[in-house]
Amino acid sequence: MSNKPILVVGGGPAGLSAANSLALVGQKTVLVEKEDKLGGAPILSGYAKLVPSGEWAKDAIGSMVDRVQNNELITIKTGTSVGKCSGEAGNFKVEFSDGNSDQFSSIVMCTGFTHFDSINKPEWGFGTYEDVVTTTQIEQMISSGNGVRRPSNGEKPKRVAILLCVGSRDRQIGREWCSKICCTVSANIAMEIREELPDCHVYIYYMDIRTFGLLETKYYWKSQEEFKVKYIKARIAEVTSDGDKVIVKGEDTLVKRPITIPFDMVVHAVGMDPNVDNMLLSSVFDVELESNGFIDRKNAYGAMGATSRDGIFVAGSATGPETIDDSIAQGSAAAMSALASANARIAAE
Ligand SMILES: Cc1cc2nc3c(=O)[nH]c(=O)nc-3n(C[C@H](O)[C@H](O)[C@H](O)COP(=O)(O)OP(=O)(O)OC[C@H]3O[C@@H](n4cnc5c(N)ncnc54)[C@H](O)[C@@H]3O)c2cc1C
Ligand code: SF4
Repeated sequence: MSNKPILVVGGGPAGLSAANSLALVGQKTVLVEKEDKLGGAPILSGYAKLVPSGEWAKDAIGSMVDRVQNNELITIKTGTSVGKCSGEAGNFKVEFSDGNSDQFSSIVMCTGFTHFDSINKPEWGFGTYEDVVTTTQIEQMISSGNGVRRPSNGEKPKRVAILLCVGSRDRQIGREWCSKICCTVSANIAMEIREELPDCHVYIYYMDIRTFGLLETKYYWKSQEEFKVKYIKARIAEVTSDGDKVIVKGEDTLVKRPITIPFDMVVHAVGMDPNVDNMLLSSVFDVELESNGFIDRKNAYGAMGATSRDGIFVAGSATGPETIDDSIAQGSAAAMSALASANARIAAE
């Protein structure tokens, strides 16, 4: 076991999992998080029920936070980021934004992603019309207990459109990647809206549906067969308004006809962008980014989570769009790589 602590940067699902795994094997760990509380996107952005577990984010991720907070092998520094990182594997010197510094044997970066800002897709109405919102805002409406309401007048919507792939699979705005989870999250949100508001019609506009693996039955088919959610394969041109309704204009690509449908609310299923801090993180930790701006993994089949710099590892959505389950698994795996790297240095000394 390394007598120097291991540093985990980022307190989302991946970082919480990494810190917990290290503590489970008796390794001292410092967990640094730039925001004032732990939990990452599911807590900071107020997600409602998670897919695929169906558990409330505040309970599921909250229990991961409690576990880490109650472990005496883990030192938590919230509201803090890393200013400088020098040295080498086995002996990194890290300076924190609070002015303190410490030495670490290895480092696990779990710095996550940034939600796509829909303002970068202005023709789809976000930022122009109040009743055009994002999946994150719908999650917050549901998790707050207030239910889904039209922002313009507080009324229950009778017709809702969810637009998939907003900020993903879109070459025009430089985002070619699929964000992996938004089809499933959107089908789940559609079912939650239908459950809360049985009179509300919910339409999902899609290019392709990617409810991968076992999620196809639980979300794609269930949303149609049990909850009567309607799916429209379409290319969307623009979202406008008549002063009351928001109007989705586009082409139904199955029948190849133009369609114009008014709704009470339009929801953007926003994708996962690289963390806006990644250029800075890349320079502070001297690790390479891949071509889209996520943190690059050195190889797929060697040490899990290895980056371009020896002794520094990466896990979760910092590496590209990932689900919570996969981020948790990668956090644990990268933590074990970090520990093995630290132990290898001790053995060599
Ligand atoms: C609308 C929406 C709904 C979703 N719902 C689900 C779902 O139901 N189920 C599911 O599996 N997935 C869901 N996801 C995906 C889920 O958000 C991610 O899988 C998960 O958050 C990834 O965890 P992470 O720890 O890698 O990153 P994050 O959750 O992004 O956590 C990273 C942490 O690092 C911190 N950080 C960043 N930079 C620094 C820095 N420089 N210094 C210190 N700390 C830093 C951040 O503040 C944050 O706390 C959803 C995504 C979206 C967009
Ligand atoms: S998961 Fe679905 S909505 Fe999200 S980017 Fe991929 S295809 Fe589009």
